[in-house]
Amino acid sequence: MKLIVKLLILLLPIACFAKEKPIIIIDAGHGGKDQGARVRNFEEKKLTLRTSYLTKKRLEELGYRVIMTRARDIFLPLGTRVILANRRSPSLFVSIHYNSAASPAAKGIEVYYYGKGKQARRASSKELATSILDQMIFATEGESRGVKQGNFQVIRETAMPAILVEAGFITNSDERALLGTQTYLDKLAQGIAVGVDKFVK
Ligand SMILES: [Zn+2]
Repeated sequence: MKLIVKLLILLLPIACFAKEKPIIIIDAGHGGKDQGARVRNFEEKKLTLRTSYLTKKRLEELGYRVIMTRARDIFLPLGTRVILANRRSPSLFVSIHYNSAASPAAKGIEVYYYGKGKQARRASSKELATSILDQMIFATEGESRGVKQGNFQVIRETAMPAILVEAGFITNSDERALLGTQTYLDKLAQGIAVGVDKFVK
């Protein structure tokens, strides 16, 4: 075999690999028998799934491959979500949730990362959390509650940079009204997608 052919065969897989789009895991919180927070007909599990689909669409427009841990209303244990994510070796992991509080005054968006474990992953997760929160606030003009450390299983046990978004309080009447509109959910999705993109680049 000619040297040039041998070289091509050697280099082809590298070229293909370089062209592959980064994989992003979107994890819609709760599902099935686990409805999450609930106020009247506002169920966290439905809002997280809707927002996840919108985020997937936005990310795909930006050239990413998106894998959702759940794509319909099913119960998925936290451990299964972690296994799913770690098996696919994605670039990063984003879990989407909505908040609730005893005080109806509590409102705003907050983003969590796991503050322990390997230093490199901790630092990149914090950077990802900051990028996503900044872009969500920019897109929605909502209230920022800041980047926080959290000990949630899906961000603790995943092996890639991982964050968990609490995208608003369904116990706050102003925020609940916004969360009932597709336009606002799409702004949240846009913020998450641009935040991911700025982090990756
Ligand atoms: Zn939740």
